[in-house]
Amino acid sequence: MPFFFSCGFIFVSILIGPLKVIPYIFCSFQIPTNAAGLIEYRAHPFWVQKYCPFHEHDGTPRCCSCERMEPRETRFVNLDDGRKLCLECLDSAIMDTNQCQPLYLDIQEFYEGLNMKVEQQVPLLLVERQALNEAMDGERSGHHHMPETRGLCLSEEQTVSTILKRPRIGAGNRVMNMITEPYKLIRRCDVTAILILYGLPRLLTGSILAHEMMHAWLRLQGYRTLSQDVEEGICQVLAHLWLQSQIMSISGSNIASTSSSAPVARSSKQGTSSPFERKLGDFFKHQIESDTSPVYGNGFRAGNHAVLKYGLRRTLDHIRLTGNFPY
Ligand SMILES: [Zn+2]
Ligand SMILES: [Zn+2]
Repeated sequence: MPFFFSCGFIFVSILIGPLKVIPYIFCSFQIPTNAAGLIEYRAHPFWVQKYCPFHEHDGTPRCCSCERMEPRETRFVNLDDGRKLCLECLDSAIMDTNQCQPLYLDIQEFYEGLNMKVEQQVPLLLVERQALNEAMDGERSGHHHMPETRGLCLSEEQTVSTILKRPRIGAGNRVMNMITEPYKLIRRCDVTAILILYGLPRLLTGSILAHEMMHAWLRLQGYRTLSQDVEEGICQVLAHLWLQSQIMSISGSNIASTSSSAPVARSSKQGTSSPFERKLGDFFKHQIESDTSPVYGNGFRAGNHAVLKYGLRRTLDHIRLTGNFPY
């Protein structure tokens, strides 16, 4: 089932008097006053990046991962499928199927730690946007179609174009020389593959993967067809739990670096995390929590409430018996 983050934010519009100085404004030129003689600007609720309202309609690119707008002085990377990525998100971006395997192992360990080992070897493939959409069309069962799908858990035999070799960033910050290869999926069990969109930061890729792994787990455990909000909701709960574990291990490794007796945090095998990556983790968590969609947002909130109250195991048992979250 497709997974996406809906943009649940309300971009705040703020009016101030024309003579006031706006601190940290994103636009480097003078902001015009509106008909009432006031300066109007918008701000992203998480990053608090301020900009003039007309940038929402003048084609100013936003990063497809963190949603921040492209500042005038830096160029975002062009992912060739209409998506743009800011340079800070590019820093930890996962660009091909091979590069994603350590992260896949990490998520498998995370599921094992929850006593939810996925026994079958499900292939994980990184794909371009078009390949993801084609695979979605190739699935027989009616999926929940969303405007921006970033991951899929497949159950049909089909051939998927997977990214074999990471692209280079060429002139004009465009990705170039991407090598793809057709990959034939064989049906050995109810799940044939998990597909994830390439080019997203490690923490976002991982949270999408944790979500899709939960679809796979439910299917392989023989759960009946659940209502969309229960299924997507519990998958979002797992994505959120994984993000939380990552944020904790990033904080843990920062403490570990100043104290010799502290144990080595799990994230250390993924390389050092920057303060921005930690902030990104908070942002992706916040995105899940504040999602306004009835399926993903309300589903997550109901599922998270149940897990906090009864624990994950009892919540899953209740879903298996009744098809619903316990109240
Ligand atoms: Zn899903
Ligand atoms: Zn970004």
